[in-house]
Amino acid sequence: MLPVLAVVGRPNVGKSTLVNRILGRREAVVEDTPGVTRDRVFYEAEWAGRDFLLVDTGGWEDRVQGIAYRVAEQAEIAVELADAVMFVVDATVGVTATDEQLLKVLRRSKRPIVLVANKVDDARAELEAAALWNLGLGEPHVVSALHGRGSGDLLDAVMEVL
Ligand code: GDP
Ligand code: MG
Repeated sequence: MLPVLAVVGRPNVGKSTLVNRILGRREAVVEDTPGVTRDRVFYEAEWAGRDFLLVDTGGWEDRVQGIAYRVAEQAEIAVELADAVMFVVDATVGVTATDEQLLKVLRRSKRPIVLVANKVDDARAELEAAALWNLGLGEPHVVSALHGRGSGDLLDAVMEVL
């Protein structure tokens, strides 16, 4: 069985873009509209000679019970299956109530959590990313999934806990 790495975060933080970046091809669905990714999609990935399964999460189309609830529910299912979790936050937005709710779920799961500060495209976003130290998850791994910045260092860190 390959180790499983789940990519979790609220809609639109760039999870699918990051998954594409890691896979090195455009396969996960990226949309400007939140909610396009299917509930859970598994991809075979490789880094530093190690194979693992990458799980992109989404599927928040159903707004009936509220988006925060749906995000938390999906995260719960994803982390059940995972050996480690990448928790993706949009550094340019900062921590939202939905992020906090999600983090509660992740902490309860006792899985190792790697904090990803995405959308750090420039120096200003870098300053904003520093605020994510407050989450108490250690170093925010600064990336720009769109431009490719930081993804190698992020994967190196992930491999230490996967
Ligand atoms: P998901 O809902 O978390 O899977 O987010 P997506 O990967 O679908 O991305 C949502 C939007 O954010 C898209 O318009 C992406 O192009 C954009 N995006 C993703 N990563 C970055 C990034 O590093 N920088 C910027 N500026 N935009 C990004
Ligand atoms: Mg997505």
